[in-house]
Amino acid sequence: MLIPKQYLLAFRKFFCKHDEVFSFRKYNDYDFHEYCKCSKCEKTLKWVKGFDEDIRG
Ligand SMILES: [Zn+2]
Repeated sequence: MLIPKQYLLAFRKFFCKHDEVFSFRKYNDYDFHEYCKCSKCEKTLKWVKGFDEDIRG
């Protein structure tokens, strides 16, 4: 099992019965949050707080 090193935290909070999931990232100055959302009910299924070395100033 390979976990990208920039992934620091991952929470899986909610579950739903749909399979259609999309994900996107929100970048801050020093880190980012990656969200996985259901495209039908828009629940946040998972979010990851990460630190991307590419955006470190
Ligand atoms: Zn859903």
